[in-house]
Amino acid sequence: MATPDEAYRHELRAWLAEHLPDDLRGVRFSGAPTPEALATLRAWNGQLAEAGHAAPAWPSAWGGRDASVLEQRAHAEEMAAADAPGPINAIGIPNIAPAIMRFGTPEQQERHLRPLLRGDDIWCQGFSEPDAGSDLASLRTTARRDGDHYVVSGQKMWTTLATVADWCELLVRTDPEASPPQAGITALLVDMRSPGIEVRPLRTMTGSAEFGEVFFDEVRVPVSARLGEEHQGWRVATATLANERGGVAALHLSVRRRIDELIAEAHAAGATEAPAARHRLVELWAAGELLRLLADRAIARAAAGEPPGPESSIIKLAWSATGQQLGETALAVLGVGALDGRWAEALTEARSWSIAGGTSEVNRTIVAERVLGLPREDR
Ligand SMILES: Cc1cc2nc3c(=O)[nH]c(=O)nc-3n(C[C@H](O)[C@H](O)[C@H](O)COP(=O)(O)OP(=O)(O)OC[C@H]3O[C@@H](n4cnc5c(N)ncnc54)[C@H](O)[C@@H]3O)c2cc1C
Repeated sequence: MATPDEAYRHELRAWLAEHLPDDLRGVRFSGAPTPEALATLRAWNGQLAEAGHAAPAWPSAWGGRDASVLEQRAHAEEMAAADAPGPINAIGIPNIAPAIMRFGTPEQQERHLRPLLRGDDIWCQGFSEPDAGSDLASLRTTARRDGDHYVVSGQKMWTTLATVADWCELLVRTDPEASPPQAGITALLVDMRSPGIEVRPLRTMTGSAEFGEVFFDEVRVPVSARLGEEHQGWRVATATLANERGGVAALHLSVRRRIDELIAEAHAAGATEAPAARHRLVELWAAGELLRLLADRAIARAAAGEPPGPESSIIKLAWSATGQQLGETALAVLGVGALDGRWAEALTEARSWSIAGGTSEVNRTIVAERVLGLPREDR
């Protein structure tokens, strides 16, 4: 008899074979889609949600299927194998929704979770600021209380999807005197169409305006839109559900697919004769295999009910390094011609991977302290 994850794998594979149109294969949601592209991806996102395939790790009460970590892996692998676009809210589903499930009022949950799952509302995460990234607790965007509203002023930076977002999970400072500074932060659920919000797109070297800077000028946010208690925003920000581990462990799939594509392309182009080229390709392939083994180990730990260890940091480090190695290997093996083709993106986009979601330096510090037991760094 098939195990539950095998059964889910077969179910999803059959569903994708029946419902995923060929012209959607390989389509990715970028931060600056045309209205037509957005409509197409929204329609697909709605189909995924209705069939229970948008966020299998979510509780069934909110449209998920309470998927185990092995079922989450089956989901990630089948979606990658079919080259199917995932849901639009790539940040909202794993990060923002779990915080709403844990800290939100019943009204907030009712209002936000299903539209987020379906991609009807697009969410962004307003955490980083020009002077608050790794040291997020030093954030300065302020919210002062005025009756039953907060009045928000300040600036957020590097906000993915800001240019198309309907809602923002925003971290603000409600107590400038708090010590430690974490104790003076509050989380708000902000309607991005509120008067006083201005979004300026930031175009990266990939050519896409996937980020925005978001300016808040005396923006009035109802107190009822606060997520969690006042000054408890740090807890909200760090809230995660176990489902994130499935996400981290699935990171390797797209990189390994691209590694296989590069090897095939180099072979077809007759670029695999030179020993130096072969060495580069083998080193890259081995890095991809290491990534898969790290991911398997993380999945096995989670499936055995063991608490999360520092493996997320190790996988994040290996994933970003291998992503960057992929672009560099394409350039070395295929020559500058690679810059005109689809490898250009691998060379440019992957530069950001060692910054997003915790920089490599910060992740190395975590590994140094928690795995190697080195003395804590003075911060
Ligand atoms: C692709 C991408 C998507 C992003 N999306 C979002 C988003 O949606 N919402 C959002 O709020 N933010 C987002 N960010 C911002 C991201 O969270 C920050 O860029 C990240 O936290 C680093 O902060 P910073 O850029 O201010 O760099 P800094 O923290 O200023 O770091 C600068 C350099 O100093 C190093 N450094 C900092 N502190 C230490 C330390 N203690 N020890 C050793 N070295 C250190 C860093 O490693 C880095 O090399 C995104 C970033 C990227 C690249």
